[in-house]
Amino acid sequence: MPVPNIEILQINDKEETPQSTEPEIPHERRIVEAVIKLWKDDSANEDLGIGKLHLLVKNDHPNWSLSEKRLKTVLKSYNLLNSAQQYTYANEITSKETPDINLPKNIRLQFTKNRGKGLYSTNLFKEGDLIWEEKTPLFFIPPLDRVNLIANSKACTYCGSLISSNNSSRSVLKGLDCNVCRDVWCSQFCKKNDKVHQLLKHNVYHDDPKKQNSKKQIISSNWIKYEKFCQENKWNAAFAIGLIHSYIITDKSGVLAKQFDAMAKVRQDIRYKAIDSSGIGASFDNNNNGGGALFVKEQQESLWKQGFELFNSIFPINQISYEEFLTNLGTYNINNIDGSLFLIQSHLNHNCDPNVRVKFGEKKTDGIKVYAKRDIKANEELTTSYVNPSHSLNQRLRELRVNWGFICNCKKCKDDSKIIQRKKSNEASSNQSKADVKKFLNENHDGEEFEIETPIINGEERSRRKSVRFDEKVVAVNNES
Ligand SMILES: [Zn+2]
Ligand SMILES: [Zn+2]
Ligand SMILES: [Zn+2]
Repeated sequence: MPVPNIEILQINDKEETPQSTEPEIPHERRIVEAVIKLWKDDSANEDLGIGKLHLLVKNDHPNWSLSEKRLKTVLKSYNLLNSAQQYTYANEITSKETPDINLPKNIRLQFTKNRGKGLYSTNLFKEGDLIWEEKTPLFFIPPLDRVNLIANSKACTYCGSLISSNNSSRSVLKGLDCNVCRDVWCSQFCKKNDKVHQLLKHNVYHDDPKKQNSKKQIISSNWIKYEKFCQENKWNAAFAIGLIHSYIITDKSGVLAKQFDAMAKVRQDIRYKAIDSSGIGASFDNNNNGGGALFVKEQQESLWKQGFELFNSIFPINQISYEEFLTNLGTYNINNIDGSLFLIQSHLNHNCDPNVRVKFGEKKTDGIKVYAKRDIKANEELTTSYVNPSHSLNQRLRELRVNWGFICNCKKCKDDSKIIQRKKSNEASSNQSKADVKKFLNENHDGEEFEIETPIINGEERSRRKSVRFDEKVVAVNNES
């Protein structure tokens, strides 16, 4: 526990010991050692935020000239930051009131300062109750890896479902083939819902040489290039925002544009910073953000810029800025579920112990159904889990922080953290008793060495301390010298 005012007392003491009042700029190794000592003294210190940790370090070394910022930089360079000290971007996420939303009965949408937009029950629900169904997503996005199959008439051009060779000749009979290009649909439903096929795949608005002013809304050849580029880079989000933009610019009502604009928004480059500080980006955007996690920052930026240029080449009269391009990527990434965007579902906030369950239909075009996972009281917030709830606390915290920008503070996270703390303090006290036994034995046996390792303390010897990060880091520090 940080003790305020201690520093002042020590300053008074130090009038007699002038050497310790000399201000000193500590070498980074000494800073790391000081932090490791604090962690060893009390494992609860491992979870402190940078501010409190800084106070403790200053308390131990009052003559150190060390800013909070430098402490953080040093710890970061040794990969020693805990989740409470790492980069978050939740405060950079903005959202607006959602226009033209038809909420199911027994549900209301509410804006709170802490949680942003969220869905709340107005009635009680019993476990297993169907709360709502969204048959049609706001934006349906087929799997990017089906692009080649679609081009070869082997998958539905709308939903990406595979079409066997038998079926593809049947689709021709049923009129499910395109009469301009080779694309086919798997059902009348897909054909009917595919509002952008013609625009994206055919040059329907041929430039008339006599009318120089007539401009295409979408240049199909550039869309096809863009699709290929997204596929080569496994960049789902870029592919998705291309489709979304096509839907938006062809929606005369303008509602789609407003609804997409009202979603929780954040720029992709802001999200990307979360990878830098975690050192591990393996779970970022399911590894499908254009090589993202594996890329160094410069490579990532050049990919974004390349994608941006190609994007605008598709839409000559509906260009967007680079900033909008990044915002659309980030917005898509934090809101999509299984690739598509569902208007109502996108308002569900996260909890590691969620009270609703989102179920997909058999086919990708079946939409989603949202059920009560347990009994839900009236006015309770409806929550879903953005990550696998069976993952460990640290895994969940990292995934949530990197992908959604926040440190989860739900009841399950608090409970899990308490259990870990309890384990740690048991380990610490067993260390203490081990030291006591050793002392006792040494005192009573003239300093003879005794084999007191594993059996005396408890059965946890093997796992003890192994998981504590600073053990590795002590080695790293020594190696450096
Ligand atoms: Zn289909
Ligand atoms: Zn066609
Ligand atoms: Zn949680």
